[in-house]
Amino acid sequence: MINIILFGPPGSGKGTQASKLAEKYNLIHISTGDLFRYEMSNDTPLGQLAKSFMSEGKLVPDQVTIDMLKAKMERHPDVEGFIFDGFPRTIPQAEALITLLEENGEEILALIALDVDEDEIIHRLTRRGKEAGRADDMDEAIIRNRIQVYRNETQPVYDHFAQFGKSHLIKGVGSIDEIFDGISQVVESRLDNC
Ligand code: AMP
Repeated sequence: MINIILFGPPGSGKGTQASKLAEKYNLIHISTGDLFRYEMSNDTPLGQLAKSFMSEGKLVPDQVTIDMLKAKMERHPDVEGFIFDGFPRTIPQAEALITLLEENGEEILALIALDVDEDEIIHRLTRRGKEAGRADDMDEAIIRNRIQVYRNETQPVYDHFAQFGKSHLIKGVGSIDEIFDGISQVVESRLDNC
């Protein structure tokens, strides 16, 4: 299996690149943010819970997120691999993912992080807020909170996978195709080393 974590701050372009990767390598794209938004749009208990955290730019609690991810993976038993987009965002989530894959004799091939500086992120998210109307993109205080949460809780996940030589930093600024070329090169080099 090819299991890839697409990593980076909010607004770094993970979703766009994850879709392209899923198509190229025939993988299932799992975005935990999209899964939460789907629950919210159906006003389920999980959606209501998620909304109370998302609307403040906070992370949804680990166990809830891990359980949701596990259920989603179990719905796709015969896949060639997964692209994880927006997960893991904490060390406990990273550890849960590693265990979940190990139970099936699988592992993460690479964590690929998109490097985008903070001014550019705020600019992109503000624009997305105007264009797509996502509530958590429409308020600069919430955007800043999400960036802070990323720095404090999520960035350590990069170092966690770096211990195993699996973390790669790619320039996240440029055309969609240029960035995708950088990502594809990492995937190919990791596949060559397997
Ligand atoms: P995203 O679409 O990935 O930017 O996620 C939007 C929001 O969903 C985040 O700001 C969090 O509130 C929540 N969320 C998404 N993924 C996770 C995760 N792995 N852990 C906790 N909260 C998450």
